[in-house]
Amino acid sequence: MAEKRWIAETLFEEFGFRMEFHAERVLYEMHTEHQDLVLFENKHFGKMLMLDGATQVTTRDEFIYHEMMTHVPLFAHGSARDALIIGGGDCGIAEEVLKHKAIERLVQVEIDASVIEFSKEHFPEFTGPVFVDPRFESVIADGMKYVAETDRRFDVVIVDSTDPQGPGAVLFTREFYAGCKRVLKPGGVMVTQNGVPFFQPDELVGSVRHFHALFADAACYVAAIPTYIGGHMAMGWAADDPALRQHPAEAIAQRYRAAGGFATRYWTPEVHRAAFALPRFIAERVEAAKR
Ligand code: SAM
Repeated sequence: MAEKRWIAETLFEEFGFRMEFHAERVLYEMHTEHQDLVLFENKHFGKMLMLDGATQVTTRDEFIYHEMMTHVPLFAHGSARDALIIGGGDCGIAEEVLKHKAIERLVQVEIDASVIEFSKEHFPEFTGPVFVDPRFESVIADGMKYVAETDRRFDVVIVDSTDPQGPGAVLFTREFYAGCKRVLKPGGVMVTQNGVPFFQPDELVGSVRHFHALFADAACYVAAIPTYIGGHMAMGWAADDPALRQHPAEAIAQRYRAAGGFATRYWTPEVHRAAFALPRFIAERVEAAKR
């Protein structure tokens, strides 16, 4: 009888905390050119992708993060045609963006081709509809380099990065955010995967400080994602028009209906609006970052 294999989430080891998931079956395991990658099946969470000891996506709760990282900026913007994803290798974000039929071009810049290749085999529910969509373009490159050099411009930039370790570290720097600002069209918005403030407050504070130096409106919104352990997850928000994040739920609902009212399991116009109401301990850190 094979020894039971437990796979550890080691992201928060510095706090004397680690968590382990039982791997019913390990589907793919390798050290890619950029990071340690393991894909396995867990009885409760389904398929789980771990990169450098940090949970990236699970089939059981991926809908929360993927819906909130896409429908919030797209419905807040209201007339996005060109979108950019930095990271996003599993293609869960791309699948949600492409549900917006008004989107004309979606570029995804992922540094690690291995993540995309095995996602095609193991996350076909994401990659299937994405790679047959003529609006989608996959670029294998460092997101930092891409935003510094491309002549393309975008209405929405979604930074679906790993945590600030390994190849993802550069995606939390002022230089990278300045590049994102550079490629945004007037009226554009950037959202970022910004960790769990209960465990990673400095990550959020650092990003908001950079946003505040580059944009007129620096903020974040939150969602509760079970496998991003530690309570609320923060999604960074940067735009030059503060009104973008202040639309009432009814205005968002009208845009949602006009977009065809496609099925969602977490995002709703009311949840969209409420996500910007921050628990005090998070709001205080965000405001302190702007002083
Ligand atoms: N939802 C996950 C989370 O919240 O942690 C992130 C999902 S996605 C798998 C993260 C992707 O960012 C990975 O595929 C990783 O290869 C990619 N990535 C890391 N650093 C990058 C960089 N500098 N440029 C482009 N992609 C990068």
